[in-house]
Amino acid sequence: MRYPQKGITLQLQEILKKGTSQLRNIAERPLLESEILLSFILQKNRVFLHTHPNLILTNSQIRAIHKLFKRRENGEPIEYITHSVSFMEYFFYITKGALIPRPESEILIEKTKSLILQTNAKNVAEIGVGSGALICSLSLSCPNIQFFGNDISLKALRIATINIKRHSLQKRITLNQSSLLDKIPQNIEIIYSNPPYIQNNIPLPKPVLYEPKEALFGGEMGDEILKQIIFLTHQRKIPYLLCEMGYNQRESIEAYVQQFTPKKITFYQDLAGLERGFIIEFGG
Ligand code: GLN
Repeated sequence: MRYPQKGITLQLQEILKKGTSQLRNIAERPLLESEILLSFILQKNRVFLHTHPNLILTNSQIRAIHKLFKRRENGEPIEYITHSVSFMEYFFYITKGALIPRPESEILIEKTKSLILQTNAKNVAEIGVGSGALICSLSLSCPNIQFFGNDISLKALRIATINIKRHSLQKRITLNQSSLLDKIPQNIEIIYSNPPYIQNNIPLPKPVLYEPKEALFGGEMGDEILKQIIFLTHQRKIPYLLCEMGYNQRESIEAYVQQFTPKKITFYQDLAGLERGFIIEFGG
């Protein structure tokens, strides 16, 4: 990819064309991603790009966009480049060090919200908040609930803290650095989590390699952390647990849960129809 030397000009539409061809092997929607990156550099929205196709870019703008196209071409997720991710109907700050929230986790949030309404719970905890996108979204749609969240990663907690402040949720969300159910208060009625559940050493697509391994890999089988969370939730006598899980983990989780004689366990599917999570009611 060559960019013009000093004195040669490039129009906005030409830059977009270059970006689109440069990103076609890595991005599913290369034009859209080129537009997002260019909007980020110009600090303008995408409508501006469409209404100014002949705008001449400065040399420093061209150099800056070239760098971003290169980073994306090398596999870096666009969310880490632009420091922005959309989840539910909100935008969150994101940077390397926290998992980029996935659309399927919106189902976990919907299910948790329904359970909160149904049980009239007042104290809810998330294990492994990562960027905080899940706990912030849920808190925004459940205004009278007190939320507690933890993570083992200080870097993730720093990102989550930024998002909590951005959405003015400091009074309703308390964070702690801890592992699994450590430091989760006694009065919690519902726990939900999207813990690491991928089998160790499974080869991951290039963009996922930019994400924290401790947020992805769950052990030799993948579901070890899920099982620890089930065990501890039962041990702490917390009545409800909702977790996201891997598409092939239903059988193993279903068998494991039986020893705790739960009142009910239900599994839910993601939008692709794959088994993606479970809800356990432990009962008395
Ligand atoms: N769903 C994520 C992925 O496919 C994994 C998230 C996790 O392990 N909790 O990359």
